[in-house]
Amino acid sequence: MTTTAEFIALDERWSTHNYHPLPVVITEGEGAWVTDTEGKRYLDFLSAYSALNFGHRHPDLVAAAIEQLGRVTLTSRAFHHDQLGLFCAELAELTGTEMVLPMNSGAEAVESALKVARKWAYEVKGIPDGTAEIVVAGSNFHGRTTTIVSFSTDETARAHFGPFTPGFVVVKYGDAAALRDAITDRTAAVLLEPVQGEAGVIVPPDGYLAGARRLCDEHGVLLIADEIQSGLARTGTLLALDHEHVRADLYTLGKALGGGIMPLSAVVGRREVLGVLKPGEHGSTFGGNPLACAVGRTVIKLLATGEFQQRSTALGAHLHARLGELIGDGLAEVRGRGLWAGVDITPGGLSGREASAALAGKGVLCKETHGNTLRIAPPLVISEDDLDRGIDAIAEVVRR
Ligand SMILES: *Cc1c(COP(=O)(O)O)cnc(C)c1O
Repeated sequence: MTTTAEFIALDERWSTHNYHPLPVVITEGEGAWVTDTEGKRYLDFLSAYSALNFGHRHPDLVAAAIEQLGRVTLTSRAFHHDQLGLFCAELAELTGTEMVLPMNSGAEAVESALKVARKWAYEVKGIPDGTAEIVVAGSNFHGRTTTIVSFSTDETARAHFGPFTPGFVVVKYGDAAALRDAITDRTAAVLLEPVQGEAGVIVPPDGYLAGARRLCDEHGVLLIADEIQSGLARTGTLLALDHEHVRADLYTLGKALGGGIMPLSAVVGRREVLGVLKPGEHGSTFGGNPLACAVGRTVIKLLATGEFQQRSTALGAHLHARLGELIGDGLAEVRGRGLWAGVDITPGGLSGREASAALAGKGVLCKETHGNTLRIAPPLVISEDDLDRGIDAIAEVVRR
């Protein structure tokens, strides 16, 4: 029998060291719980960075996958299949948009949105070819491709990966005046996370996103909302932009869209924008495959009930009330929306990494974003008792 230490040694010997995982080896998951090699159970307070909004192995999602596995899993886009059109129609209806471009990973969705925005700028807006600019926010996280890290402000994500893709302008997140100053007649789009997840669950000031929308309207600029982590019920609404009653021209979706089973992402938005793509100009072998679409259609069904949005709102209010009690008593700051929180441990206390390790010891899995910040994002299926159990553990760890 392979022991926990041996599994970890195998990972460390054979997988690239681009992550620094906690020393827990998971072998099973169900709902909000996972089990390790030694039979120890943990509450999942990370949800694979919100890819597991519906928990591990949600029965409806597993059933949809099994059903589709018994029919057809991949056709490529060389042919039609019976899931793609339905998936796109249902996702457009759910999100109130007009067109869907299916991809696989979140980074691919962001890359696709950037390509589409540039093409739209040249062909529809009339910006001289090769000169379009896209305005992005500091401390952003949009993925790991060369183009995307070109406009990251995280030196670790960029160092020695250049030369970088030009055409991006970085402004301070949450600063409406900085955004206004950055827009020129060469601006194609503004790309924002409605809540910055990796940065530590940063909610921008009230009115910032609505202001960004107004600026984009005044200047004929596209607003692209990266809702890969913030969307699909995580903040209590379908999309985090819904809190400010703002509509984007393009949204990038991913993570929970694949139900924690398949990698599935999409760009959704206006026909005038996504319509610039013609055959041969963009694509993906696996994008929109039948298995991913079948699972994605079931995700859409779950979201259409509103149940998960309601759970996030109700459980999130409870989470934030309880975390708020720890301010000045282990925590310096609590941010977030819905069942999603970034908490800063009081300086001088444990680092985020040390706190994550201590929490794992107590049977709760979460992860630092950086420094002394922990990200808390339990699956939206979690019971209130289990949520309290996890918060109790957090309180014990940060109060030390
Ligand atoms: C995770 C994430 C991405 C990248 O998604 P991958 O599937 O890891 O490529 C992009 N944007 C945001 C906001 C994310 O949270």
